[in-house]
Amino acid sequence: MFRSPDHGLSPSRRRASRSAGWRSATLAIVFASLSVEAYGLAPQVAPGGLVRWPGEGVDRCGLQDRTWLPLAGDCWYAIDLLTPQGTITVSRWREGLREVQDVRVGAYPYEVQYITLENDSQVNLSQENLERVRRENAAIAALWRRDSPRSFALPLGAPLENLPAGGRFGSRRFFNNQPRNPHTGADFAADAGTPILSVAAGTVALTGDFFFPGKSVFVDHGDGLISMYFHLSGIAVEMGDEVDRGEILGLVGQSGRATGPHLHFGVRWHGARVDPLLLLDLPEDLPVLTP
Ligand SMILES: [Zn+2]
Repeated sequence: MFRSPDHGLSPSRRRASRSAGWRSATLAIVFASLSVEAYGLAPQVAPGGLVRWPGEGVDRCGLQDRTWLPLAGDCWYAIDLLTPQGTITVSRWREGLREVQDVRVGAYPYEVQYITLENDSQVNLSQENLERVRRENAAIAALWRRDSPRSFALPLGAPLENLPAGGRFGSRRFFNNQPRNPHTGADFAADAGTPILSVAAGTVALTGDFFFPGKSVFVDHGDGLISMYFHLSGIAVEMGDEVDRGEILGLVGQSGRATGPHLHFGVRWHGARVDPLLLLDLPEDLPVLTP
């Protein structure tokens, strides 16, 4: 139950971790029950939210089958939008020993949104378009497993120079009264042609003209963080380009499935769909685990 996945520590650390397996498991159980007893219920996070576990001497952080390096000493956990309500266990390693804490994932808190599209072929897809979307989704999903060195710090930069209020992350969507996938990014209304800026340094991992997202740019910022910019009128970069924070990636438009010119900005971190507004402006009430 407490066997550590391969977390990429040095061979000597890995051996130490294995030989200390039972001790690690016992400590983990004691640690988890202590934190619950001392502080009441485990902290709660919304699906699509973030949790921070501050600590010292942390080698590695982990959730499910992924592990990563701490960020400025702390472990950050991205909780995927479609995580069901319940309890999840987050991990970290110190001196080769695994420590765990429970986090409660709350009920799905986002609104329902009804959108009318005149172009019904974007709601009820032809067989050909269904196959196209499947191919595109497979190419895009390959990005979530990229593992490059981190090239960002939090908070991220804004994707538009004068970022208007926006969002609607997580909204459950009905297009022409038919239920469709929830909204996994934040929308910002802006004039067509407004420059779109990279939120951090990184490598352009994918560009293209996709069925739903339209003209799109995906940037890999390392540490499993991918930012994405949809519905562009023009793309200013090419796959493989190294970009700086604030560099122009393209221009606002309404390509793909969009009802007007706007930027759809989204992020995946360690594979999880999280509210990108949290990374642009770190909230003061972000759930923090006891050190
Ligand atoms: Zn959107």
